[in-house]
Amino acid sequence: MTSKEQPDTAKAGADPSDTAPGTASLTLDTAWTVRWIRRSAEVLAASRAALNTLDRDIGDGDHGENMDRGFQAILPKLEDLADDTTPGAVLKLVATTLISTVGGAAGPLYGTAFLKAAGAVGSASSLDAAALVVLLTAARDGIVLRGKAEEGDKTMIDAWTPAVNAAATAQAAGSAVGAVLLAAADAAVSGAQATEPLIARKGRASYLGERAIGHRDPGSQSTTLLLRAAADVAAA
Ligand SMILES: [Mg+2]
Repeated sequence: MTSKEQPDTAKAGADPSDTAPGTASLTLDTAWTVRWIRRSAEVLAASRAALNTLDRDIGDGDHGENMDRGFQAILPKLEDLADDTTPGAVLKLVATTLISTVGGAAGPLYGTAFLKAAGAVGSASSLDAAALVVLLTAARDGIVLRGKAEEGDKTMIDAWTPAVNAAATAQAAGSAVGAVLLAAADAAVSGAQATEPLIARKGRASYLGERAIGHRDPGSQSTTLLLRAAADVAAA
């Protein structure tokens, strides 16, 4: 848990004030993408012990360590990017680094998410709200493809799918990029909290049966951290 988390009652939709004329056309660029990944690395480092604890409850206790190692390995690669580097190229760099450095289930799952997100945004130099929805949807679909989990299985999909849905709803209502990401992050938090009463049907936690009840899925929690970081740097 971080102080940035919103309670269940937090607004799940977009702030109507963000749909004012002139704001809905804002886009996010490569600099935002780099700041997102740097912020994610910071937050994951700070949350390393907490994520390990969640994973220790219903898994093998290494999720914080794995995520921290993966994102720390990305940081030096962000130092000397060419001027014409696109957001998609940054996402692809994240994907390949996570796949090669993160063990357990999380590396392939998040690696696939970032790889599919990179492919979905293509060579665009900036991302509008619609492109963000495409990015998030592709990431989620990649995780589903790789992990074969469905909503309610007590996995990171339980954070991703509400996030994607909330982002799409916000974008359809005319929200700007910042509000779209905020909607996604808030919905992910609620989705992660909603994994707590579930019995796991995927992964190591599925062996625990009812003993998994009362514990939050660690992958759903790291998903909230990544999406909150995305929203935070868009708002900064
Ligand atoms: Mg683990």
